[in-house]
Amino acid sequence: MNNQNNQKGTGANATVRPRPVSNGVEPKRTFSRNSGGHGGAFKHSSRPAGHTSGASSHSSSHSRHSSAFSSHRPSRAGGGSFHRGGGAPKRGGRRGTHIDISKFINKTVITEEAVVFTPEFLFKDFNIQEKLKQNIIAKGYNEPTPIQDRIIPHILHGRDVVGIANTGTGKTAAFLVPLINKILLDPKEKVIIVAPTRELAQQIDQELKEFVAGFRIFSVCVVGGAPIGRQISSLRYQYNFVIGTPGRIKDLIERKCLNLSQFKSVVLDEADRMLDMGFINDMRYMMALMPKERHTLFFSATFSPEISALVKDFLKDPIMISVKKQDTAAGIEQDVVRLKPGEDKIEVLHNLLIQPDFKKVLIFGRTKHGVEKLSVALSKRGFKAGSIHGDKNQGQRQRALDLFKKGLSQVLVATDVAARGLDIEGVSHVINFDIPDSYDDYVHRIGRTGRAGKKGKALTFVG
Ligand code: ADP
Ligand code: MG
Repeated sequence: MNNQNNQKGTGANATVRPRPVSNGVEPKRTFSRNSGGHGGAFKHSSRPAGHTSGASSHSSSHSRHSSAFSSHRPSRAGGGSFHRGGGAPKRGGRRGTHIDISKFINKTVITEEAVVFTPEFLFKDFNIQEKLKQNIIAKGYNEPTPIQDRIIPHILHGRDVVGIANTGTGKTAAFLVPLINKILLDPKEKVIIVAPTRELAQQIDQELKEFVAGFRIFSVCVVGGAPIGRQISSLRYQYNFVIGTPGRIKDLIERKCLNLSQFKSVVLDEADRMLDMGFINDMRYMMALMPKERHTLFFSATFSPEISALVKDFLKDPIMISVKKQDTAAGIEQDVVRLKPGEDKIEVLHNLLIQPDFKKVLIFGRTKHGVEKLSVALSKRGFKAGSIHGDKNQGQRQRALDLFKKGLSQVLVATDVAARGLDIEGVSHVINFDIPDSYDDYVHRIGRTGRAGKKGKALTFVG
């Protein structure tokens, strides 16, 4: 990253140039975008065979709209092509692909009229325990999102599933609700949920705790960077859910503190990430230790054909439910910031951040070093900025995230460690200070804004 420290002036004294009116805005052109295919090993289905859930008397109409909360039909604009910089493949064989700049532009969302999504089921229709329904209502969920609407009945029926839905559309509850119900029916059941980052595992654990408030259902969150001793003692007590990251889970298995043969259900959240090069060996290791007869659930907003091919190794007769109609979540307005020759990137960023609507801004950089450098540079310029990346200890990561969540810092600079799954309320902008490694990474990064039916903006620095 070349966020060069042209730190002339700090804080209020910083040199501020007015933002050029046409800054980075590509002329609009129409193009057609491929919808990102899902390859093979699944049956696509919309309702469980012999559907007999509590909703069986409900409407049989099945003209599903997509995209949670509301759905839009954005038109696209753009042009030109861009070749990402090189670097050794980090994972997944997805690097080195071309990302067309036009894919970073999608400006017409806000003016589109929303199509209201009408779920087929209401939470009260699901064949789940009454007290769980009450907790769902208490959490403020009035009706299921499309992925919840479509997939929960299948999970309640015990089917292996692959659930694909845009970022911020309620995939967490889509797997938590039916699995909590399973445990209410049999308190001896154990479920393991695996996520790619510590913060995401902790977030899922937090959401679970809200759903099971007042029940005798217990969870242990096992992530790296936190004291293992405390996790080991928690695992000596009764629990139903283990939620964690692969490295720490493996460590606990090797120390004989976790016995996966006792777990009959497994969820891979951000499943495509869990099955790519970085984690695939850990996943094979874990799955091999689980019972052959198990309930396996995969969820993500993206699923590349390469990764889909792996699915048949782990799931039995799976159903794939995809409620995606477009690559990115419906409410995210996307644009590029084109740097002119000789223009200082950090100065351009500065000029964006001083604009009043840039209230809660998540900035992605490529390397840990670059992210840290940018965060320090922004702080010197007087911005309240924190950072999250792999070189920080867990306490520092957590603090930076908490300050940002609470709105006490305006800016969080992060590597892709913050790209997956994090649900931070009210992120006004995602800025790709560095181009992401792949289009899928882009989709996840910008998915930190425009969540739960809200609007958001994503800007990508190019040129
Ligand atoms: P995803 O995993 O699809 O990115 P999350 O599960 O993190 O999305 O959910 C995004 C946000 O939407 C969260 O704040 C969550 O509490 C909220 N949410 C999920 N389901 C519902 C629902 N049925 N009604 C209202 N809000 C919901
Ligand atoms: Mg999620």
